[in-house]
Amino acid sequence: MLNESEADWYHLDIMDGVFVPNISYGMDLVKVFRRLTDKPLDVHLMIVEPERYIQAFRDAGADMITVHYEASRHLHRTLEQIRQTGAGAGVALNPHTSVLLLEDVLEVLDMVLVMSMNPGFGGQKFIYQTVPKIQKLRQMLDERNLSPYIEVDGGVGMQNAERLLQAGADVLVAGSSIFNAPDPMSMISEMKALGRNFTEFI
Ligand code: ZN
Repeated sequence: MLNESEADWYHLDIMDGVFVPNISYGMDLVKVFRRLTDKPLDVHLMIVEPERYIQAFRDAGADMITVHYEASRHLHRTLEQIRQTGAGAGVALNPHTSVLLLEDVLEVLDMVLVMSMNPGFGGQKFIYQTVPKIQKLRQMLDERNLSPYIEVDGGVGMQNAERLLQAGADVLVAGSSIFNAPDPMSMISEMKALGRNFTEFI
């Protein structure tokens, strides 16, 4: 069923109840997803000291592992640690964190996840400051001839998807807008039709 879905990747939100107020699930659920699909598993770690769990999430089946800028004391080292496991390395920015802070790690990144709402709960309001933030990041990457994915997560739906893609996003994470749609599969197709079809993975 997950293989037949219109989704190109599966984005899994891991919350520890410390970095974010909510608690979701851990590597056991990632393992279940791994058994159910061959599609890339995009694991978003909203946890403190993410470096302690990189190998465990890779072993569970993660293809992309994203840590938060705000939760990583030694971000450069952690990103290299992720790449050494064979996974793609991503960094996530909370709404208050500037993309300019990534200047010194852009070279070791496979993805930048721009949070378009405060992490921790689904279904919150989209923060529009995200759009100029993506534009700025796209400009920084173009100037350096780098091409990590730009992913947007939080409050993404048909009302803002096109604007985000135009601003320079490659990957849209959609939760509530898909699951609350009368026909989730056609909603994914409609959203994908707005931009390129990103089936290629690193
Ligand atoms: Zn997420």
